[in-house]
Amino acid sequence: MSIKNIELVLSPPEPHFVGDGFRVHNFIPGGYRLDMERMNPFILLDYGAKFYFPPSDRPMGVGVHPHRGFETVTIAYKGSVAHHDSTGQSGVIGEGDVQWMTAASGILHKEYHEKEFSRNGGEMQMVQLWMNLPAKYKMSQPKYQSITSDQIGKFALGNGAGTVEVIAGEYRNVQGAASTFTPVNLFNARLNKNGKADFSFPAAFNSALLVIEGKITVNGTEEVPTDHFALFQNEGEEFEIESEEGAIVLIMSGQDIKEPIAAHGPFVMNTRQEIFQAFEDYQKGKFGYLKD
Ligand code: MN
Repeated sequence: MSIKNIELVLSPPEPHFVGDGFRVHNFIPGGYRLDMERMNPFILLDYGAKFYFPPSDRPMGVGVHPHRGFETVTIAYKGSVAHHDSTGQSGVIGEGDVQWMTAASGILHKEYHEKEFSRNGGEMQMVQLWMNLPAKYKMSQPKYQSITSDQIGKFALGNGAGTVEVIAGEYRNVQGAASTFTPVNLFNARLNKNGKADFSFPAAFNSALLVIEGKITVNGTEEVPTDHFALFQNEGEEFEIESEEGAIVLIMSGQDIKEPIAAHGPFVMNTRQEIFQAFEDYQKGKFGYLKD
């Protein structure tokens, strides 16, 4: 086993609004070197750093829109998000919860601040990831995994160093709550003061971390501050994170899906032809119906 080093540390890009409710820093596939291929299967990462929304009678968010060819994973760190979709499902993603939505062949949905959160106002902090699907699953049936905080397996680190929550994959024999189509590890490491944790992933897996709270040191040398993203090299397997003051860190690592990517807006397929098909199917109402 050898050390997996950081390739680059990225500060949060200028935020933009998705709809009127989600103020996000887009790390993937934004600027820098992070195109969809580089972190595949993590093909999009929007990070809503802590942001205060004043009370509002009308819940802010993003209206009805389609997705095809991948999964959306929403992690709420602060605040509360409500969603509705064309399969008739709806729900609330509360603090500590994760929603793993397989759009696959196509879904329409809308995402809003939860009603009571909206009325009271408050801090919102969330992550949305788009997880790519291999060609053979892109047109599979849409589905949901609504994962509440208490359903997420937790590994207690030694010496009261903190916990590792296993959203997907496996950490020290704790199995992830989410089922995935390809090998993916997605963890929340919650470090206490002077807490340390180490991780080991296959060298070829695309791996990165995002510091949600606090600041950390990686492999004893490299500092990664709050709201910063660190991309790892595809060499070496093991890395260690440590925090003097305590931290929350989202750790992601997954096996590359070595297929061509054709992406346009809310559709991520393998060919341009499939993108045209997605637009056509969407216009013909094949994604179902959802009231605004
Ligand atoms: Mn969406």
